[in-house]
Amino acid sequence: MASSQVPTGLLGDVPVQKIANAARSTPFYLYDVASMRRAARELTGAYGATKAKVFYAVKANSAGPVVRAFAEEGCGADVVSGAEIDLAVQASVLPENIVFSGVAKTDREIQHAITLGGVGIRSICAESVEELLRIAQIAKSLSRKANVSIRINPEIAEDDLHTHKHIATGHDAAKFGIARVDLPAAFRVISNSEHLRFVGIACHAGSQFTETAAYLAAADILFAIALELPEPLRSTLQTIDTGGGFGIDYGEGCDVRPKHFIEAVVQKAKTLGLDRYTLGCEPGRALVAPYGILVARVIQTKRTPYDGPTRKRWLMVDAGMNDLLRPALYQAKHRVAPLGQWSGDDVTMRVVGPVCESSDDFGDHVLPEIPGSHVVFRDAGAYGFTMASEYNGRMLPDEYFWDGKVVSSLFSDSPWGARRLSETPNPLAEVGL
Ligand SMILES: *Cc1c(COP(=O)(O)O)cnc(C)c1O
Repeated sequence: MASSQVPTGLLGDVPVQKIANAARSTPFYLYDVASMRRAARELTGAYGATKAKVFYAVKANSAGPVVRAFAEEGCGADVVSGAEIDLAVQASVLPENIVFSGVAKTDREIQHAITLGGVGIRSICAESVEELLRIAQIAKSLSRKANVSIRINPEIAEDDLHTHKHIATGHDAAKFGIARVDLPAAFRVISNSEHLRFVGIACHAGSQFTETAAYLAAADILFAIALELPEPLRSTLQTIDTGGGFGIDYGEGCDVRPKHFIEAVVQKAKTLGLDRYTLGCEPGRALVAPYGILVARVIQTKRTPYDGPTRKRWLMVDAGMNDLLRPALYQAKHRVAPLGQWSGDDVTMRVVGPVCESSDDFGDHVLPEIPGSHVVFRDAGAYGFTMASEYNGRMLPDEYFWDGKVVSSLFSDSPWGARRLSETPNPLAEVGL
């Protein structure tokens, strides 16, 4: 291409270039919260008239404005730590809509979950028989009854999960969930304790599913277990939660939308007569990833002169693996788009950051030869900021939130706790945004 103007539609109707010009520093995350709301509504709509609850998996993007938006859209929260319980509550999620997963919950976290708001959270999702015994013990010491659900490991062969091995969780070598052979023991522990109130079963088989088959296979196993629950558990069962893991299109194609997983699940639940229970799911990525970008400044280019496969054009940008870890952690590829005035013919460039690690590498991308001011890493709304670190003495990136033309932000120069929950009202007002 001869000259490249700003591509439109990088992030819905968000004026990315204007915000990049006005932002106080780079790199920064920018989120289209209005589109996240729409995604949540579409997913909830897929349940139709069936009783249902979408538990947003807070770890995907735990920024206050994002969690609060989902709470306003009627979502509950799936959390994996005591801090995430508090974060969800401060973002207006009711305790009765919080489910708590994780293989290694501390005593303090379990206590917090049992006592929150006087009645405790909706359910502590136990991932082992040993954990059930611990929850019962802690509830006893508090003279309380703990709401528990159990996370079942569906034991689907790792190859059949069709996802990256580091994000597959529902196979028999994974640390997650209760093995099917251990279910009778789990049921016994629950039935024999006056301090456990059984309320649900759940599974979460993995992440980034780009077809419904593996997700449905796990749901089928969960449904079969629901149908065979012994009394008295069967009569107290409230929620059947089929987990998260809906994939998004990172550029390699993904024809299914989150609602397709749910439509399939609902249909199956209806045929089995299980739609008399509340159906749940725990999506993280699919509700936020496509609606976030990481904007970085171009620092310079570099050419290595060697002939052969090492001959390269490099593009150095000011975002590194500390800002966006997924490529280094999972070999994930994020599409990179030019922002600003770029010119020249398209060439292949290796986009890298400033961090002193070889894995600080975002891969090869086709871009105009003469760079403009910025690049945009697309689909970075999930597991982006939440995995960021201050490695190499770098600051955490700033975050901007666009929600129906209202801009708010979280800046990294205030203490962590306050930073994640308090936004500065429209810091871009002076530029008319
Ligand atoms: C991470 C996680 C999720 C969300 O997974 P996504 O792939 O982001 O949808 C859901 N449930 C549990 C228990 C998790 O740990």
